[in-house]
Parts: sequence; structure tokens; C-alpha cells
Amino acid sequence: MDISAAGATPDLSVVVPMYNEQDVVAVFVERLRPVLDRTDATYEVVAVDDGSRDATARLLLDHARSWPQLRLVRLRRNSGHQAALTAGLHRARGRWVVSIDADLQDPPEVIPEMLAAARDRGVDVVYGVRADRSTDTPFKRGTAGLYYRLMRRIVGADLPAQAGDFRLVSRDVVEVLRRLPERTPVYRLLVPSLGFAAAEVRYSRAARAAGETKYPLRRMIALAWDSTANFTAAPLRLATWLGVVSFAACLVLAVLGLVAYADGATIPGWTSLFVAVLLFSAVQLICLGLLGEYVGRIYRTVQDRPTHLVGFDSAEALFDAAGEP
Ligand code: UDP
Ligand code: MG
Repeated sequence: MDISAAGATPDLSVVVPMYNEQDVVAVFVERLRPVLDRTDATYEVVAVDDGSRDATARLLLDHARSWPQLRLVRLRRNSGHQAALTAGLHRARGRWVVSIDADLQDPPEVIPEMLAAARDRGVDVVYGVRADRSTDTPFKRGTAGLYYRLMRRIVGADLPAQAGDFRLVSRDVVEVLRRLPERTPVYRLLVPSLGFAAAEVRYSRAARAAGETKYPLRRMIALAWDSTANFTAAPLRLATWLGVVSFAACLVLAVLGLVAYADGATIPGWTSLFVAVLLFSAVQLICLGLLGEYVGRIYRTVQDRPTHLVGFDSAEALFDAAGEP
């Protein structure tokens, strides 16, 4: 429906995090706009520019001139995908909020299906489930498969498999999410863990429309660790078990050493001592490191620093003559 959502509460907010996505902005807008215009819902599109260093923000502002429902929220610096989602969720005004990737790997055509599913079935959450990932690299499929299997174990059985950040949530869910003090939210786990009634819509994941992935291995590992540490303290327990096992090993070695001593066998002893010291200091360091990971999380929570800072929101700012934020 082609009604400007400025100031009003739209039926639907579409939150799109974008980091250095200048190559996809135009194709994304071209695909998304007709889909949204065809629905009977009033809408806004909240494009969150996650501190891009390319022309993403400028291109978005250009499009916003001819598409009043397009709104640009610009973060002061690159804060990461999940923080960009946080910014979008916090600023979205819609009765329903959909989050979608900018690279058209999540087809915008699925959004009306999600909205219909939510309304017809009276649920608060609709997950986009990737029924087909054949366009992803085998490495991405493999690591993703492992990730979802592991997280299912950690978070519980309610976790939909292969559901990333393409999802629709109701205003009620958004309000709960906004109140959580979490510093490193992982929404694909957080939302299912809340226990709202949910439905699924299946789709096949397309190839990236243009540009390259903004999720290098480093970020994938960071997401996996955030996911784990957010939902379980089991690694700390692992530290305890490592301690127990090494204590047992110590006892055995001590007995062996005493026996050797009693036998009068004069062993040089240096090698065993050296290895034992190395081994047990390694175990201690691992345990300390694990403790540090969790203490670090507590520290960040206590500091209460913002996870992201919005530098500009086109819904609040007036364009200057040049139209620059
Ligand atoms: N993204 C972001 N900030 C970042 C990294 C990624 O806003 O620091 C956005 C990116 O622009 C895209 C979405 O998050 O819209 C998913 O990223 P991408 O498609 O690169 O991840 P992949 O599909 O390769 O896992
Ligand atoms: Mg992608």
C-alpha cells in the first residue's frame, strides 16, 4: 500500500542491516519495493547502515527521495550484524517487524507469506527456514549445519533448524527484546528461547546478488562463541573436568614417582617433570581463559556501554540542501 508511513505506526517495518553494500542497494530496492507496494499493509523500510565506508548511505538517501517509506538509520561505526539488527529493532515502529539481509539471499517475496502466516495462525514469530542452501559453498553449508545442530542441543528442542535472521516478529516480541540488557545478542537463538508461538515459512536461499560476504571466518567464529557463551556455562564446567582429570593424572604420576624412589631407581626425572609442568600449566591457562571469557561478559554488561550509536536517522533529521546526513 503506497501510504507514507512517516510519523504514523505502520503495519510492517522491514529492518535491513547493510555494511558496505553499495553493489546491492539498487537491486535490493527494485526487488523489495514492488513486493511491499502490492501488500495491503502500510510499511516502512528501516535500512541500517552499519558504518559503511562505501556509498551505501548516499545511495540509500537517493532512493529515499523517491520512496518516502525508506528510512535510513546510520550507525557511527561498524558495530556488527547483530548490533545493526538491534538498532533496527529499537527504531522500527511497525506492528510487525521483519529482518532481512540486504544481499537478496532472503527473497523479499516471502515477506507477504510471513505476514499472512502470522495473521492467519495468530502467532508472534514466523521463521524463514532455509529449505535449500545449494547456492551456498560446501564450507558454509557444513559449518552452518554444525552450528545449528550444536545450538539446538544448547538452547533446546524449540530451535528451528536452519533459521537465520530472516524472520517476522510481533510488536510484543520487539518490546521484550528491547528490554533485554544483553550486550552480545544473537537473535536467531534469543527469539526462539523466549517461547512465543511460532510458525515457519520455507524458502530456498539464493546466491548473493552482488558484492561479497561480510561474514569472514573470523566473524563466523565470533558468532558461534557468542551463541555458546550466551546460552550455556558448560565450557566452565569443562574447565572443572579438565582440572579433575589432570588432578587424577597428577596422583598417578606421584605414585609412580614414589614407587621409583622406593625402588632406588635414580631417574634423571627432568623430562617427566618438564612435560608435567607444561601440561598442567596449559590446563590451568585454559581454565583461566574460560573464566576470563565469562568474567569479560559480566564486565561488559556492568559497563553498560551502548552496543551501537546511531549517528543519523532520516525519520528524525531534515535533509540539508545537499541531502547528506
Ligand atoms: N552486515 C552488517 N554488519 C556487518 C556485517 C554484515 O550489517 O558488520 C549485514 C550485511 O550487509 C548483510 C547481512 O548483515 O545485509 C548478512 O551479511 P552477509 O550476507 O554478508 O552474510 P552471509 O550471508 O554471507 O552469511
Ligand atoms: Mg548473505
